[in-house]
Amino acid sequence: MYLFKNIRLYTGEASYERGAVLTDGDNVLYAGDESALPEAGDAEVIDGRGGICMPGLSNAHSHAPMVLLRGEGADLPLAEWLACVQKLEENFTPETIYSGTMLAIMEMLRGGITSFADMYFECTDMIRAVLDSGIRANISRGSTSIEGIESHRALHREFDGAEGRVRVFVGLHAEYTSDETVARTAVECAKKLGTGIHVHLSESAPEVAGCFERHGMTPPEYFDRVGLFGVPTIAAHCVHLSDGDMDILAARGVTAAHCPASNMYLASGVAKVTKMRQHGVCVAIGTDGAASNNTLDMFREMRLAAFAAKVTEGSASALPARDVINMATSVGARAMGFERAGVLSAGSAADLILLDGEALHLNATDIPTAIVYSANAADVRLTMVGGKILYRDGEYLTIDANKTVCEGRDAARILRKG
Ligand SMILES: [Zn+2]
Repeated sequence: MYLFKNIRLYTGEASYERGAVLTDGDNVLYAGDESALPEAGDAEVIDGRGGICMPGLSNAHSHAPMVLLRGEGADLPLAEWLACVQKLEENFTPETIYSGTMLAIMEMLRGGITSFADMYFECTDMIRAVLDSGIRANISRGSTSIEGIESHRALHREFDGAEGRVRVFVGLHAEYTSDETVARTAVECAKKLGTGIHVHLSESAPEVAGCFERHGMTPPEYFDRVGLFGVPTIAAHCVHLSDGDMDILAARGVTAAHCPASNMYLASGVAKVTKMRQHGVCVAIGTDGAASNNTLDMFREMRLAAFAAKVTEGSASALPARDVINMATSVGARAMGFERAGVLSAGSAADLILLDGEALHLNATDIPTAIVYSANAADVRLTMVGGKILYRDGEYLTIDANKTVCEGRDAARILRKG
């Protein structure tokens, strides 16, 4: 049991200047005003020293091992960047995938991320890192072939639901990297396993133009025809959508994972988040891989999402702070299959973070405003997942930080030597 006191609390629904949070096991027992705190028994008291406590962040789209490729292909156009990155990716081994994932998890925990949805090659090693570290994750293999899709069966059987922290989705890389048979196999596989799909969707203008040439329709129209959205779907990017595309995503309950930094870094464009939301599309927020961002800082991502929406709409009122937090917490967590995470209330998962109470730049009257417009990853003092403290004041409680950093350095060298 932990009792967080002396905190400014944002539960995801309400703010409390004198808040308190009580956890028991992996659950929240109470989150609200300190004056109504129930009997806390022998709970360990954590003095928040006036810092903001809020739900942990959910990174809805990432490629964790790509932290080892950070900076590669910088300032190159998408196609050249991809060629540069893919050449190095050929050198990944199970060991380097594990090292890269663990290094990314360190960065995510340090920055207040308590769950992430990832798509990469060697999922077993990624899941090992997730289980070893204590974080929550939704893992899928970015498949381009039937063999890749079929590999999810064993993965799902072995790991889905592990420790209540792992979900296995079927990963389909994208329309332009798979044919219709592969896409239909992904749907069948996800339906049989009773799971969802993670896919890249309408990231760039050339992708949409190519889809028109191949299928005579947009990527969302094509995938809808294939039946892809018949299962819970996380669709990364969704930068180039028509009004009709938005209606399809809304009707099928697809969650778009908005990755503003990556889309700007590669000059893919800016997703029309306000319009998507007006059409009824669920929109979460993701960092994408660290090779196209180049951080895993969800605070920067929230700020960028808000600013991009305001400029796109020509309105300072577009995408207010509370909506951005909702996207970066509960919308993402729900899309990953972690329904109890993303808010702090009695019975919710004890996935929470505590920010520095002494950070001068967090001195804003409105708590959500401070979180979205002023905070950054370095402000995080404590990260808790499922009631366990995984990071606190520079210390990782489940990860050998020195070893992980050294192994990450070796792994980055191995990738570059080939
Ligand atoms: Zn991606």
